[in-house]
Amino acid sequence: MKPNDKTKPKILVVATHNRDKVRELSAFFAPYFDSISDVGTYGFTGEIDETGVTYTENARIKVEACYEYLCLNRPELLEENLLWLLADDSGLSVKALGGNPGIYSARYGGEISYIERFTLLNREVVMSSSKERAAAFVCVLAVRTPEGKLLTFEGRLEGELAEIPKGDAGFGYDPIIYLPEYGVTVAELPFSVKNRISHRARAAQAFVDYLEEK
Ligand code: IMP
Repeated sequence: MKPNDKTKPKILVVATHNRDKVRELSAFFAPYFDSISDVGTYGFTGEIDETGVTYTENARIKVEACYEYLCLNRPELLEENLLWLLADDSGLSVKALGGNPGIYSARYGGEISYIERFTLLNREVVMSSSKERAAAFVCVLAVRTPEGKLLTFEGRLEGELAEIPKGDAGFGYDPIIYLPEYGVTVAELPFSVKNRISHRARAAQAFVDYLEEK
């Protein structure tokens, strides 16, 4: 599939309610799709039960839940085989915590603010046996092609857990992940830089490479 190939309209629906994720992903996929939107645009307001134990399982669960929703509620979208569905499951894996919070990142510590999560993370690392501050953002994208094939693409961004959060760009754990080679946290990077080097960017680029070969 070539960028801006206008032979047929192609639709990409992102199985999330997280607008930040859609914004980051749209930058990659805009040349390949005529329309990119989150599944809320098509009336899906529910929460998907993330019952998997890996990023890949959860990303697939999200894609499948949205596919079922669209089959029932917007079958016309599926009729012409133009619909691509994509889900992102991502999180922060901290080495000293055996990869936690990982797939539980969005719920880490329960119903608390991210500032409280940063304090909790730092406390857990200080109390851990290794006290290692290495941490990585991980992202798995699951894609359902119009033909019904399920694909997955993975990306990682390695960094360190900062003691003090800094920066106000991005979202989630960005202020607490320090990137030694840039000398700043992810939340201090301009959008264009985060969106070139991030875990999500790397997974998205792998999907773009797949589209290019199609
Ligand atoms: P998900 O929506 O179940 O995939 O949960 C992902 C969670 O991981 C988010 O709510 C954030 O807490 C965290 N996360 C994922 N990607 C990023 C990122 O790019 N920056 C900061 N936090 C992230």
